Amino acid sequence: MALTPEAVTKLIASGFELAVERGAGTSARFTDEAYLDAGAELVAPEAAADCAGIVRVGRPEPAEVERLAAGTVLIGFLQPLSDAEGVERLRAQGVVAFAMESIPRTTRAQSMDALSSQATIAGYKAVLLAADRSPKLFPLLMTAAGTIAPARVLVLGAGVAGLQAIATARRLGAVVSAFDVRPAVAEQVASIGAAFLDLGLKGEETEGGYARELTPEQQQAQQDALSARIPDFDVVITTAAVPGRPAPTLIPAAVVDAMHEGSVIIDLAAETGGNCELTQPGREIEHGGVMIVGLTNVPSLMPADASRLYARNVSALLEHLAPGGELALDFDDEITAGACVTRPTAEVAA
Ligand code: NAD
Repeated sequence: MALTPEAVTKLIASGFELAVERGAGTSARFTDEAYLDAGAELVAPEAAADCAGIVRVGRPEPAEVERLAAGTVLIGFLQPLSDAEGVERLRAQGVVAFAMESIPRTTRAQSMDALSSQATIAGYKAVLLAADRSPKLFPLLMTAAGTIAPARVLVLGAGVAGLQAIATARRLGAVVSAFDVRPAVAEQVASIGAAFLDLGLKGEETEGGYARELTPEQQQAQQDALSARIPDFDVVITTAAVPGRPAPTLIPAAVVDAMHEGSVIIDLAAETGGNCELTQPGREIEHGGVMIVGLTNVPSLMPADASRLYARNVSALLEHLAPGGELALDFDDEITAGACVTRPTAEVAA
């Protein structure tokens, strides 16, 4: 849910007038009554046509876009790098669209960084899914009935989701290793108690702190080194991504075949194709005794807190674009310009 009742209360106090789609918060456990109490009006989805701005989680359907008046401000995860058609539709309609993915990842924009807030939730939930699917306990247990060795967990990709997965798996008592192509990550991984897998390969980082896509030769070298190590682990959580590109394949089918019975792969990159060759986006499958969990939109499995964090990100962006509820778009501002993916041509000229 893009706004929680708490966020509604704050935005109304600041000067916004808000309407909430009836029933939209139900699955995140935010009732219509709570929105009414917070001061919002409850409306049908068609009412979007009468609003100056719309905030939502994902992309709108084509039919919804058709109803929007030119100049309407739209905020959401709009997938600007992978959905050129959707962005073009918004542009043709004259919508002023802001993509949460495009907010610059600067200190100033930190409160609006929904990629980070949702990746944090996904990293945490990935470990809970793994612990639930694994037939092994995570912690070392010394009991009267003997000792149980701790689970060995490997996290591939140590960005925001990966670091949260490492911390969560450590809290559950697993012995955690991690790998990322960005060399800067090794220190962060060590500081939260995981071992960094040294594969003898150094990737590069872009100015924005993202991974640069590996060359085919680098990819192959990484693949060979990783393939030899992966079967040592009980659980592999993969989060490797390169913005706007398909997820790199880090676990080929042959490596899954070499993993032991009862191993678990949680592929958080499923949405962009998956880091495991056998991942089926949106599904959990078993292959030769290995569970491969390719669920997409994992933050939606923790809807209340995912919404709380997202609503704070959205509120911060709304206050930035419309302080006190008055729209004041400044395209010389790096956050406004960076997040904007379409705007009417007249404004471009201005
Ligand atoms: P992401 O979701 O794009 O990617 C996840 C991880 O996968 C990254 O760490 C990336 O290096 C890694 N990866 C890519 N290809 C790989 C491969 N072939 N093998 C192994 N790992 C691979 O990244 P993210 O989590 O959104 O964040 C990336 C960076 O942005 C981090 O450095 C993070 O600290 C930084 N960041 C900065 C800010 C800020 O300054 N406000 C906010 C958020 C994130």
